[in-house]
Amino acid sequence: MKKILQDSTDLRSVKRFFRLRQMLLLVLSIGIILISPYLHQQLVQAQSALPSKVATGNLWQEASFPVENFQDYTSPFGPRGGDFHYGLDMAAPEGSYIRNWWGGQIADVWEDGRCGTAMIVRSGDWEHIYCHLRGRVETANGGRYYTDREGLQIWQGQTVPAGARIARVGMTGRTSGPHLHWGLKYGGRWVDPALVLREMYAQQS
Ligand SMILES: [Zn+2]
Repeated sequence: MKKILQDSTDLRSVKRFFRLRQMLLLVLSIGIILISPYLHQQLVQAQSALPSKVATGNLWQEASFPVENFQDYTSPFGPRGGDFHYGLDMAAPEGSYIRNWWGGQIADVWEDGRCGTAMIVRSGDWEHIYCHLRGRVETANGGRYYTDREGLQIWQGQTVPAGARIARVGMTGRTSGPHLHWGLKYGGRWVDPALVLREMYAQQS
């Protein structure tokens, strides 16, 4: 009698177990049906995010080191003598070619007492600034252009590919020796060019 009672108890608990399992499966499948559109959306988002991530990685490989015959970094981006140095100074012999860092358009060419003969190239959200260039800015046919007096002519508004020789290292403006002062802005904000160069090297090597 005791044995039978125990068996029926076991049977009941087994039945209860299966009923519970069925309910759990039901709840689980309802849950999956409910969240599957969300999962699908997540997957689509992940897939669409992937190619742009890869593209960003590759883009740095197209970037060009901005100066030929580079000798040394002579002054970093950052505070300098109670002032702030918004660029990276790169020493090179006078007359060395400056290469356009990234394909874009010549946004401006000008001369002033500080930056000397200078130009800005715009590449999407980026602006790259080149100072102390050898040569000068001239006006013709209602336009402005930079010339190194040795044949190079770079017009404001002109499109320039990455790596193109756009200017020469000089000593115009406030400088104690021939070097390229290279400035970078992203979305209107100054960026330390050394960070970008480091990123370029990390992906090119
Ligand atoms: Zn500088």
